[in-house]
Amino acid sequence: MAVVHSISLPPGEYGGDAVQRLFTNQLDWEAHPYYQGIKGLQVSAHFFVRRYGGVIQFVSCDQRAWHAGVSQWRGRDNCNDWSVGIELEGLEGGVFEDAQYLQLARLLCALTRRYPLFEAVGHEHVAPGRKADPGPGFDWPRLRSLLRRQGPRLPVLQRPKT
Ligand SMILES: [Zn+2]
Repeated sequence: MAVVHSISLPPGEYGGDAVQRLFTNQLDWEAHPYYQGIKGLQVSAHFFVRRYGGVIQFVSCDQRAWHAGVSQWRGRDNCNDWSVGIELEGLEGGVFEDAQYLQLARLLCALTRRYPLFEAVGHEHVAPGRKADPGPGFDWPRLRSLLRRQGPRLPVLQRPKT
């Protein structure tokens, strides 16, 4: 599965290197007051998609990254054990750039060719009540139609009927 997230550090500021620093345990906690609130946080994601479409990979998809936390989808716990984490540079609830949708779709296509990916969902869906990213500004139907155009049969956010 692919789990889509949003992140920016400090929140709402784009283009810096703080997210890369966080995911590689090199963030200077003193560099911004906001960082005091997340001090010591040890997280990682497989990919980071910048506002204008640059893609950075931090963790091999053959290895686990720490992006989902306490999570569950379709009755399976610990999504970190069986998912790829993709962070979009952005704000929870905010909108995302055209380039990010295109690169996300390209990335998911590439992953689908290499791994038995069965679905793409949001962090908010695997950790409801605890996490809210990427939030209502993320256009799931748009991702769905981009993927359909590119060919892979990867369902996007098919809510399980429970
Ligand atoms: Zn997240």
